[in-house]
Amino acid sequence: MRKIICLTVEELQTNAQKYGYEPNLSMLYPAFLKVVYDNKLHLFFGEDKNAIEEKVNIIKEKIERATRRNRNFRFDAIQPEFNSPPDEYFLHLLNLLCNNFGSLSDHALCWLEPCNGAYDDLKDSIEDKFERFDINLTFEEFKGIFTAWALEICKDSLAIFPNVDKEVREELSKFSSDFGLSPTDKEKWPPRLKKILMSWLSPILGSNIESKLLVILDCLSTYLSYDKARYYLNDETVKLCQRKDKAWYKCNKCGGISPFLLGGTCPKCGALDNKRMEDFEFESLSFWRNPVIKALEKVPGVQLTRINTEEHTAQLSHRDQRQKLWSTTENFEMRFQNVFIDDNEPVDILSCTTTMEVGIDIGSLTAIGLRNTPPQPEKIINKEQEEREEKAQASPLF
Ligand SMILES: [Zn+2]
Repeated sequence: MRKIICLTVEELQTNAQKYGYEPNLSMLYPAFLKVVYDNKLHLFFGEDKNAIEEKVNIIKEKIERATRRNRNFRFDAIQPEFNSPPDEYFLHLLNLLCNNFGSLSDHALCWLEPCNGAYDDLKDSIEDKFERFDINLTFEEFKGIFTAWALEICKDSLAIFPNVDKEVREELSKFSSDFGLSPTDKEKWPPRLKKILMSWLSPILGSNIESKLLVILDCLSTYLSYDKARYYLNDETVKLCQRKDKAWYKCNKCGGISPFLLGGTCPKCGALDNKRMEDFEFESLSFWRNPVIKALEKVPGVQLTRINTEEHTAQLSHRDQRQKLWSTTENFEMRFQNVFIDDNEPVDILSCTTTMEVGIDIGSLTAIGLRNTPPQPEKIINKEQEEREEKAQASPLF
């Protein structure tokens, strides 16, 4: 999903640049559907899967119609028709943006920025406010503060995407029930960030630093929207950015990776010992980052894949309904052998109990993983050996 979301950000940014509009988070969904369509992906389960398929067909028609009539295909224009993405879409996005250790920003891929607004109205109003309160900061510096603050409130209270149900957030943060910012939280700086800003801005902003910080916080709050007594980053005024040549900074004290420094200090711990990351320093992120970079660079052979996993146990082998031709287990067995029924996708990984040892043809088996030693491990090994004889290739046994 990391690859798909990064390709989506790229798709939206390219389209926005081509037609001269400013992208925002709410436009990501139609761009996501186009990526799904272009790469022939099958995503999600149940109702969410149906919802995606239905919308992908609509996107397909729109693309074809725009090409046929030689019209522009713009995500900003079609966004209102795609304003209710399914829960699973949000679940993945929330995870990628708010995960405490593995967010897109932690992997030096994407970061959140404030929008300038139509005709730069948001940017202008912030600059005017800074001028009025004698705050000597540029909009670029404000962006750096915004990015650090947005990451902090996303990681702390999943304060993004106001329309997402509480149940979806609870799947990511099981022990928390307070999501978003309360009206009181909104008026307060996250303590760590406040400390960092105080030491950076005190010499620059001079007297009344406390009240000037409150003015900056007030400017940040204009990027929040309100839902059920809580505040969240507003989809329509915040954008997700990605740039190949973006400079990323690494803190030598906490190891944190950030898209911006705050007056030369690490936005995560306030240390001054930071440096711009050299190419070799991205190596430590290669497991998460390289597949994304290769997908963005369209390296041949790099595909967007999804691993489909099912369970094979005796409990599933009864015939679920009389009308059903195949039992659930038989259905999974066939799909594991790439025999497709009812347009279902293949099963890539079959998680089995010892019921697998019933003499079925296990298809194109490429690897076996054993969790616990089964009662008769030789039978499993025998199975693997049979496979090896048939296919003249070894199936590694883990
Ligand atoms: Zn740090």
